[in-house]
Amino acid sequence: MNIEAQVDALEGLSQLDSALQALEDELSRERTALEEKKDKLSELEQKHQAATASADEMDNVRGGLIQEARTMSVQMERSREKLARCRTEREVNAGQREIEELRRLYRDRELEIEKLAALSEQARSDIDATQAERDTLSGELGTTEGELSTRLAGLQKEADEKHVQRDVLSQDVPPVMFRRYEMIRKRRGNALAYTTDGKCSECNILIPPQMFQKMRRREDFEQCASCNRIIYFKPPPPEGEAEAEAPAEAASAEE
Ligand SMILES: [Zn+2]
Repeated sequence: MNIEAQVDALEGLSQLDSALQALEDELSRERTALEEKKDKLSELEQKHQAATASADEMDNVRGGLIQEARTMSVQMERSREKLARCRTEREVNAGQREIEELRRLYRDRELEIEKLAALSEQARSDIDATQAERDTLSGELGTTEGELSTRLAGLQKEADEKHVQRDVLSQDVPPVMFRRYEMIRKRRGNALAYTTDGKCSECNILIPPQMFQKMRRREDFEQCASCNRIIYFKPPPPEGEAEAEAPAEAASAEE
């Protein structure tokens, strides 16, 4: 296989690979953004559920305390009636102590009830805030998810097509060269460099004159001593043609 055909195939492959890389980066960014939103939504839902359960529990406890306070109030009324009927000083003292004790217990309940009411009110307002946040996010996801799935599917289709093109193109590169290309690409992102003026197009290092002279004969590829990329000589564009693609096209037309 002559070097011109390989250069064409490798250049095509390299362009395809950078387009694929950009596509895959975009796909992965979009998917991550979507996943993050979904995670956040489920976190908010859990928070909302837990806070609601805890506020309900507080209201329950408060309800029980209110019931207890009512019972005590009734007991106090009875104790007062009993006190009014007392004859001896001892009975009066005992009755007063009983009322005092009931009053103390009643006050404790009242304080607890107030405290719980404040806590529950705070909890309910936190719940409302969480719910508002959840609704906003859920609305956002609702409107963008369909759009985003379509976009993701489009990107995926484009990537799949490029993979097929890639398989076809890679058959024009000898297997040894392809394996080398893949190895360098995985390490460096792109595997192909060229030189026109004696410098590596990717890392800009000056190629040793002897190697450059050899490369100008376009008999074989070399590897850049600095960045290790596969490197070949690309003749300068003919007069009046600034297009970088022109020499490659001319080369393939000669075949
Ligand atoms: Zn280089």
